[in-house]
Amino acid sequence: MALSVTALSVGRAFGLNLPCLTYMRGWGSTIDIPLIMFVVEGGDAPIVVDTGADVTRAWDTHGIRMEQTVDEQPDVALRSLGIEPDEVQIVVNTHMHWDHNSNNHLFPNARVVVQQRELDFARNPVPWHRMLFDVVPGLRPAWQQAEEQMSPVDGDIELAPGVTLVTLPGHTPGSQGVLVEAAGGRYLIAGDCVYLYDNWHGDDDADHIPPGYYTDLIAHDQSLHKIESLACEVIPSHDSRVVERKIFK
Ligand SMILES: [Zn+2]
Repeated sequence: MALSVTALSVGRAFGLNLPCLTYMRGWGSTIDIPLIMFVVEGGDAPIVVDTGADVTRAWDTHGIRMEQTVDEQPDVALRSLGIEPDEVQIVVNTHMHWDHNSNNHLFPNARVVVQQRELDFARNPVPWHRMLFDVVPGLRPAWQQAEEQMSPVDGDIELAPGVTLVTLPGHTPGSQGVLVEAAGGRYLIAGDCVYLYDNWHGDDDADHIPPGYYTDLIAHDQSLHKIESLACEVIPSHDSRVVERKIFK
């Protein structure tokens, strides 16, 4: 069976300031975005890439207005594909921002694959990024509910036949993408290296546009060039058109 990637909405966030997504562009504008959980199917076992936010703490803890229908709960969304959460043996976190890893615990039999340097940074982020990593006074980061499942790795590695981790630092120190060799093409689940198609397609001034949140802009530029060298189709992390298309195969 050939590999495929399915994009499932696991919640939506409203009213984000556009320059937070598209570097120094879109002042005064806001955008609503989906939170997306990806499922790679067709191999020995399904692989889940990113698990979304804990929507119950979105407003009080993070000041972000979010919605999540019952069907968008990650375990319910997964079952819509005929997959039980306990069948999942590998969860990948593209990075450790709270809106990508807060439901890892819903996959009790999975090891959670993350870059070691990302895990190190998540435990001790720079002060201005603490909130992004769910480091909030008086609360335990949601991802730590599955802390014993964390399985850190270093560098670009093949996770399964046709599924490769690709380090893409810049947005965070250990951001990574997942390259999937499907029958119809090779797809890169890009994480927040590429939030929107607008980031990838760029504008009159630049071939690509980095995110507004980053820890290393030079590394981010190199990561975008690395993606170019992969000759793949890029799947952004928060573009509503990804959810609308849903299946990449
Ligand atoms: Zn992020």
